[in-house]
Amino acid sequence: METRIERIKSQLHSQKYKLTPQREATVRVLLENEKDHLSAEDVYLLVKDKAPEIGLATVYRTLELLTELKVVDKINFGDGVSRYDLRQEGAAHFHHHLVCIECGAVDEIQEDLLGDVEKVVEKGWNFLIKDHRLTFHGICYRCQEKNDKE
Ligand SMILES: [Zn+2]
Ligand SMILES: [Zn+2]
Ligand SMILES: [Zn+2]
Repeated sequence: METRIERIKSQLHSQKYKLTPQREATVRVLLENEKDHLSAEDVYLLVKDKAPEIGLATVYRTLELLTELKVVDKINFGDGVSRYDLRQEGAAHFHHHLVCIECGAVDEIQEDLLGDVEKVVEKGWNFLIKDHRLTFHGICYRCQEKNDKE
């Protein structure tokens, strides 16, 4: 965790930004909740526990800055809420998501699996692909197990 904070710090420095205590508290919350997909309000409530003096606007600006610097990605699963998701270090692509339509759980797929699809699209549409987002909507294994038992 400390080394990741150090690396994020130097990423900010290279763009002439400082990792202020408020920014650091925000980054720590994102790292501690890496498996979750937190909204700005979720992040704010968790940061407030560590730094009670912090305001929502500061957290929001920090999240926007981290998005700009590609430390996090902003995603929307169709419920109108922007969520902030840490990018995997060194990943060429943003990871994929499995969204359960029954319980709302969001699972991740780290493997890209789309190399061939990208080639077809690049060729067929003469489009130079830089990244893609992929979200599957369906029923997670936990809900499937629960449904089987009922
Ligand atoms: Zn994710
Ligand atoms: Zn589910
Ligand atoms: Zn991908």
